[in-house]
Amino acid sequence: MRTDPNCIFCKIVNNEIPAHKVYEDDKVLAFLDISQVTKGHTLVIPKEHFKNIYELPADVAADVFKRVPTIAKAIQRETGAIGMNVLSNAEEIAGQTVYHFHIHLIPRYGSEDGFGAKWIAQNDAFTKEELATLASNIHAQF
Ligand code: 5GP
Ligand code: ZN
Repeated sequence: MRTDPNCIFCKIVNNEIPAHKVYEDDKVLAFLDISQVTKGHTLVIPKEHFKNIYELPADVAADVFKRVPTIAKAIQRETGAIGMNVLSNAEEIAGQTVYHFHIHLIPRYGSEDGFGAKWIAQNDAFTKEELATLASNIHAQF
């Protein structure tokens, strides 16, 4: 099992520091974020240490992501949230502060509930040709 002795989430996995766990099995752990953006804000992690989405092997990703709907619905039932944001930050520019892959489940209660993601669509920033080239260059990698 990959683990990092300096990683705060590995310490939670290894029960070296406490957390309010909401789900646990042999591969995946979910626990309340220590800084609740909204009530029920939960982190879902693989027990093995991987830095972020770029380092996450596909089988570990499958283990984590396939449990997300069930955990999300349990949180939704308990909190009565009316929606949820599901996100994962990779690298500093995206807001990653803990370098052990995690998915944030942020229950939503209303437009003033504490969560805000600035999202500015740039509809005219790229030509159709630029988008076609971009898509085909990404597609060519598979
Ligand atoms: P990131 O900024 O990397 O996407 O998210 C890391 C999250 O981990 C933050 O929301 C932060 O509040 C949470 N966090 C950091 N340290 C701890 C901890 O010791 N326990 C828990 N439960 N959450 C933590
Ligand atoms: Zn770790």
